[in-house]
Amino acid sequence: MTELAQPHSRPPAVDKALSWPGMQALIASHGRALVLDCLRTALDAWRAGHITGEAELLYTVQRQIERLLTLSMRPVFNLTGTVLHTNLGRAPLPVEAIEAMTAVALGASNLEFDLETGQRGDRDDHVEAWICRLTGAEAATVVNNNAAAVLLVLNALAQRREVVVSRGELIEIGGSFRLPDIMARAGCKLREVGATNRTHAKDYIEAIGPRTALLLKAHTSNYRIEGFSTALSEAQLAEIAREHQVPLVVDLGAGSLIDLQALGLPAEPVVSRVLQQGVDVVTFSGDKLLGGPQAGIIAGRADLLARIRKSPLKRALRCDKMTLAALEAVLRLYADPDSLVQRVPTLRLLTRSQSDIQLTAEALSSCLQGWAGEAFAVDVCAVSSQIGSGSLPLEVLPSAALRLRSRNTNKRTRSRDLRTLAERLRQLPQPVVGRIADDSLLLDCRCLEDSEPLLAQWAANA
Ligand SMILES: *Cc1c(COP(=O)(O)O)cnc(C)c1O
Repeated sequence: MTELAQPHSRPPAVDKALSWPGMQALIASHGRALVLDCLRTALDAWRAGHITGEAELLYTVQRQIERLLTLSMRPVFNLTGTVLHTNLGRAPLPVEAIEAMTAVALGASNLEFDLETGQRGDRDDHVEAWICRLTGAEAATVVNNNAAAVLLVLNALAQRREVVVSRGELIEIGGSFRLPDIMARAGCKLREVGATNRTHAKDYIEAIGPRTALLLKAHTSNYRIEGFSTALSEAQLAEIAREHQVPLVVDLGAGSLIDLQALGLPAEPVVSRVLQQGVDVVTFSGDKLLGGPQAGIIAGRADLLARIRKSPLKRALRCDKMTLAALEAVLRLYADPDSLVQRVPTLRLLTRSQSDIQLTAEALSSCLQGWAGEAFAVDVCAVSSQIGSGSLPLEVLPSAALRLRSRNTNKRTRSRDLRTLAERLRQLPQPVVGRIADDSLLLDCRCLEDSEPLLAQWAANA
């Protein structure tokens, strides 16, 4: 290449620049169209005085191509301490689910094709029997997520009619799922009963009339009303619903298929038990405690599920083949309770012992110190992880974290140091996401099962 041009010199002609060996090499790897596109942008920058020579032009084009070709969505290390982190994609999937997804993604599958009869099949067939077996429900269907499940159930069973809900359960999840809004979109009328902290049987009974379509109970998963409060149990509500011949629908949110308490975890409603209480239809997420792909599962009475399936909304909210393949594979793992916790990453991470997590953290400490530099003090401390996704915000899981603290004596400088460090962590090839608390940056190691890639990355980018 020729020597550097003077600032604000005339840029080369497009064709000339494209003929440079450096540009030719880029064209060979990425194609002419992309190089030309980036070159034009870079030439504009030259005219504006931001680029002053041929070497810089080539470098700019190269960088621009790299940026364009880097995938926007990519893996990160979730060291936030929140296992089911909605912003970080919630449940990590078991390998069995990944394999099932890959197999059907690569080509044709029997998604809606009955291999026995050679006739058209139903995409729910791949998962319905499993859901029924694991929950005791008569029938089940699956849609895009739990918000969609609630929308569909309300629309199919209660359009233009009233839905009775306790004022203590008019929930909002993650700022975008508000029960009253979903209800309006589903075309039903909200009939609020009781007070925020107390709702009694008579409140429900007085609200039930000819316009009542169903009773709805929402699991208040992301908050808890404590102290002077009363809410009816599923069994009590089921009795009222039965007496008045209206269905009872429960939005469980996370809904677990197994008893988490038996694993030493905080209690969450178990789907089969809720249905046993006489609840007619439940909805819950696939990517919360179940540990599967994003999905909304609807399970319950066969006659109600038949009405739900017939709704045109079901078609609009249905899952794709990869979701169904992953969900089927995850549900199958529940058939063997003995190997379940080891095979479903969500359950494995939630049940990881503090001592095990601490060992992981300790093994990383000196490498992290080398990467972060002497401006920071690194140690390992006890912290609390959270389940996340709205589950049990009050219950915590004992965990261990790498703690980084700035050595600066000025509090504001320390705070700035931590933010800069958090940014450096996010800029790594596989970004690391921790959390800032108490004048420190914490990297909770609960979700880090294989620390080799992280070690290698810190060592290489020190
Ligand atoms: C999480 C949650 C939802 C929304 O579920 P998504 O699968 O995120 O759509 C609805 N209701 C409750 C009670 C929840 O906890």
